[in-house]
Amino acid sequence: MNKGRKFQDILKEEQPVVYQMMYNSLRNRKVSHAYLFSGPRGTHKKDTAILLAQSLICENGEVFACEECNTCRRIRENTYGDLIYVDGREATVKTEVVEDIMERFDMTGMEEANRKVFIIDGAEHMIDNAQSKLLKFIEDPMNSSVTSIFLSENPERILPTIISRCQRIPFSPLSEEAVCRECEEEGMDPLDSYLLAYIYKDKETVLAMKEKKDYLKVKTLFIDFMEALKKDKNQALVEVETALLTSKKKDKKTIKLFADMVSLFFSDLLKNKTGNDAWYNQTLDFFKKTNYNNYNSLNACLIAQSRLAPKERNSAPLVLEQMIYQL
Ligand SMILES: [Zn+2]
Repeated sequence: MNKGRKFQDILKEEQPVVYQMMYNSLRNRKVSHAYLFSGPRGTHKKDTAILLAQSLICENGEVFACEECNTCRRIRENTYGDLIYVDGREATVKTEVVEDIMERFDMTGMEEANRKVFIIDGAEHMIDNAQSKLLKFIEDPMNSSVTSIFLSENPERILPTIISRCQRIPFSPLSEEAVCRECEEEGMDPLDSYLLAYIYKDKETVLAMKEKKDYLKVKTLFIDFMEALKKDKNQALVEVETALLTSKKKDKKTIKLFADMVSLFFSDLLKNKTGNDAWYNQTLDFFKKTNYNNYNSLNACLIAQSRLAPKERNSAPLVLEQMIYQL
């Protein structure tokens, strides 16, 4: 979690529609018994579910929870007695898991507030039988103190009968800028945050990629390549040939990643945009002062990127060489 910033402020900035929907229902006390948060990975679905749980239970907040009191902290750390979080993102959610929720929530609440919340992350991974059981449970008026929150990247795989009982809240992909800022706030190197956020657009992937050998190798090559390109295109080509094209493993993914970085650079140059890293910005400044044809260069990169797409069968080293010649 970002230090010093309340999640509700991040939500307001990065998912304004979701923020407004939640704000309205909390302020008007029209909170639904069941929610479906749908949208791609890395869009703050889980953080928002936790904020909703906190806002239903915390006594210190105004519309949203205070996010600071003991109750809010326990909810965030998943040690609050009347909150159940099921992580179904990587595995199927079996009937027993649902039965366990029903059993725990059948009794009087463990906490004073007697307000219970369960969150099922990856709700599409619940087996049908589990979904049917849960449906009966959420429909039972006896369970009016229970709020159910389903999180899903593929809501079309959830039973329509469940979906129809839920208030649906769609989450949009975060902007590259937001992903980059969040990664930097977590202490990532600025150049890594920038390159990876703009190429992969999803924080989880960025965090997984940043230590990978292939990525680090390509980043170093990208820096060496741009430095060489300042002087001489042939020298730049030699850098790439030595690093990527003569190695035994002429991995298409690695070559594509390199093309993605060069493409990002020329796209920024053409748009007169700056990055967040000193070396990157100095390099942009250098090329701005030369009479490089930025439009042609970007075009060469875009063609190479499309020819390196997974379904294409072109020779990756050849595509890359052609791209560099046309820069
Ligand atoms: Zn609180």
